[in-house]
Amino acid sequence: MIFLDSASTTKPVDSILEIITPYVKSEYFNPSAKYKCAEKIKDKIEEVRCMIADSINANPEEIYFTSGASESNSWAIRGFVDYCNAKEKGKQIAIISSGLEHKSIRDCIRWLNLFTNNIVNPEYSDIGMLDREGIIRKENIKDFLVKYYGDKYKIFTTICMGNNEIGTIQDIKGLAEEVHKYNGVMHTDATQCYGHIPIDVKDLGVDLLSASAQKLGGLKGTGFLYISKGMKDHIFPLIYGSQERSFRGGTSNVIGIIAFGEAVKNIDYKKSIELKLKRNYMIEEMIKEFDVVLNGDACILNGNTSILELQRLPNNINVTFKQNITAEALLYMLECDNILVSAGSACNSQSIKPSKVLQTIGLTDDEIMRTLRITLPYDISYRDIDRAIDSIEKAIKILTK
Ligand code: PMP
Repeated sequence: MIFLDSASTTKPVDSILEIITPYVKSEYFNPSAKYKCAEKIKDKIEEVRCMIADSINANPEEIYFTSGASESNSWAIRGFVDYCNAKEKGKQIAIISSGLEHKSIRDCIRWLNLFTNNIVNPEYSDIGMLDREGIIRKENIKDFLVKYYGDKYKIFTTICMGNNEIGTIQDIKGLAEEVHKYNGVMHTDATQCYGHIPIDVKDLGVDLLSASAQKLGGLKGTGFLYISKGMKDHIFPLIYGSQERSFRGGTSNVIGIIAFGEAVKNIDYKKSIELKLKRNYMIEEMIKEFDVVLNGDACILNGNTSILELQRLPNNINVTFKQNITAEALLYMLECDNILVSAGSACNSQSIKPSKVLQTIGLTDDEIMRTLRITLPYDISYRDIDRAIDSIEKAIKILTK
């Protein structure tokens, strides 16, 4: 089987089973308990917290374990809104965002809008004339920042660092700089980037950052929210209770956190460079063999072959076929040949609505139906890429007969 859907999840790193087995079989104590064997587990959790903090140049006290990036995203937004409504009474909240955000962000804002009347998010989703590359430029958000700057509003900006569908990587540092000039808060959803491209929260200047273990070889249901020291007093909890230093409740997900540590140990950015080469090879083959348009950063098409300059996730290929085929039919044909891909983001695959991300970068509903996402795992071989290309070719021949 060839798995080409790594943006949806990744294979847990090989050593995880061995590492977590003791915590299933014998070390099953609640880490908050006061006996020694429980305290040892607590120490292990703190070790992982330090590793994660180190990996993004944060302090361990700035890392809060969550159930995944959906919770982290919801916490960042809802936590800020709750804080403002309690401590900054009478103020309006301007949530500056984009149509490229994950559903956990978009839905959080939508639900909040149902029961609060002080949130503005008017230009939401058409943040700035996004082209097919999906790059959000400083100038685009500046207009919003200027509009909402002042005593009447609190500004909260949330921009995805690397998009899960089209793979576009945003200039979060530049955007954060701009947001801070207008006293805004900067959150980024780094779920698709963490573990794949180096992240330094201090250098980026973000106040909040979300990530998920399952996207870098950890287990599903574990993530973290980075809350900068300065931000801690400007956000409320989302899940009440004491375990995460009285700021996030719930018995610690010991197995998920220990496994997360193992995944973090395995981060190797050199592998990302190799993966970019394989990805570029596959993009070039697809363009050569099929009539496709590349969505997301397309520098490769402009003769710029410097892989390091592409603002695109190392694993991501997103193409729209010009032939009269649907990605859905292609997906099923590839599955019959043991090749797994995605016709949009996995979170949207149950819904028949066209992808909001693809709409935001200007694709028509018809183009969206013909759009395929391939996200490569690190261990993909050139042989498997060739086999996938052959399989796509065969499927297209049948579908266009
Ligand atoms: N944000 C992005 C960009 C994602 O790709 C995902 C996972 N598809 C999430 C958030 C949600 O992550 P989790 O499943 O850990 O809640």
